[in-house]
Amino acid sequence: MKPEACFKCGGQIQQLATGRPRRFCSDACRVAANYEIRRLNVRLQSLETDASRLRYEPDHGVKDWVGRTHAQHLAAAEAEIADAEARLRQLLEGTNDDD
Ligand SMILES: [Zn+2]
Repeated sequence: MKPEACFKCGGQIQQLATGRPRRFCSDACRVAANYEIRRLNVRLQSLETDASRLRYEPDHGVKDWVGRTHAQHLAAAEAEIADAEARLRQLLEGTNDDD
C-alpha cells in the first residue's frame, strides 16, 4: 500500500512507478520527522514520570495549578501519553524505511 500523504506535513507524495513506496514528500520532512521522534521521546519520558508519581502518590484532595483534581491530572497525563505514542508509532512506521 503506497501512502499518498506525507507522514510529516500531510502534503502529497509523488510516488515512483517502481521501488519502495515513499513516506515523506521530501528529505526535509523525513529529517523533521526524526527530530519530532526525539521530541516525543523526551515528552513521553516526562509524562510517564508524572503519571507514575500520580499513581503512587496519595491524593491529598488538592487541585493542581490548572484546577484539576488528582484523578483528572492523572487521566490527562495518560491521555497525553496515548496521543504521543500514537503519533510516535505513525512516525516510526514512516521512518523505518529510509526512503
Ligand atoms: Zn512533507
